[in-house]
Amino acid sequence: MRFIVIYFYIFIVGLILGSFYNVVGIRVSRGQSIAFPSSHCPNCRRKIPIHEMIPFISYLFLLGKCRGCGIRISLIYPIVEISCALLFVFTFIIEPSLSSIIMGWLLISLLLIIFVSDITDMIIPDKVLIVFFILFIFYRIIFPISPWWQSAAGSIAGFFILFSINYINRGSIGGGDIKLFTVLGYLLGLETVLLALFLSAFFGAVIGGGGQLTGWLKKGQPIPFGPFISLGTLMAFFFGEQMMRWYVSLVS
Ligand SMILES: [Zn+2]
Repeated sequence: MRFIVIYFYIFIVGLILGSFYNVVGIRVSRGQSIAFPSSHCPNCRRKIPIHEMIPFISYLFLLGKCRGCGIRISLIYPIVEISCALLFVFTFIIEPSLSSIIMGWLLISLLLIIFVSDITDMIIPDKVLIVFFILFIFYRIIFPISPWWQSAAGSIAGFFILFSINYINRGSIGGGDIKLFTVLGYLLGLETVLLALFLSAFFGAVIGGGGQLTGWLKKGQPIPFGPFISLGTLMAFFFGEQMMRWYVSLVS
């Protein structure tokens, strides 16, 4: 019973943070302030009253439409809010230690912001990366990785692998993706960032390729890589050890 109360609190905090990450993801990439102006409909400029800003719930009550002009509210908002809440609770349930729970929450926060900004504007904002790089450095001072060189090696590998692919393919990968993997490498360490890279590329190829085959994506249409990085990195974080063990048992 006590645990259900804790899960509930974490869920609510996740919803509220998810709604904040939506604002950060959209406004920072457009060079706007996070605090001003207050939320308004991008179409009719109607100011959104407090009772319509309850994460996820308000979207359901408004049936996904602006009350002023009836324009559809992007599905990204409720998806990010509910994902943040569920992932926060999931992390708390399956991660064994305080350090890995905090690491999971940090990762989810960064990746959801990137998901929003990359999907809406195809931008991974430097400001967001810098703030999280600083947070990750502090995290690694408090909870050091072993062996100690894993963080630096993770950053360097993340940078050089994407930089090389980009160089060979003449700029097919955005500069933001390269910087994002440099930052992620520091937190994840060498082994996990390599797995995250592999999984991101895998999801990108499967979903991107599938999208082109079904005609859902046009050929040559640029697609944001951020959502695949978010998916691949979270998979590597949550299930990396199981995947490595499974792989080793296959090849040995
Ligand atoms: Zn409106």
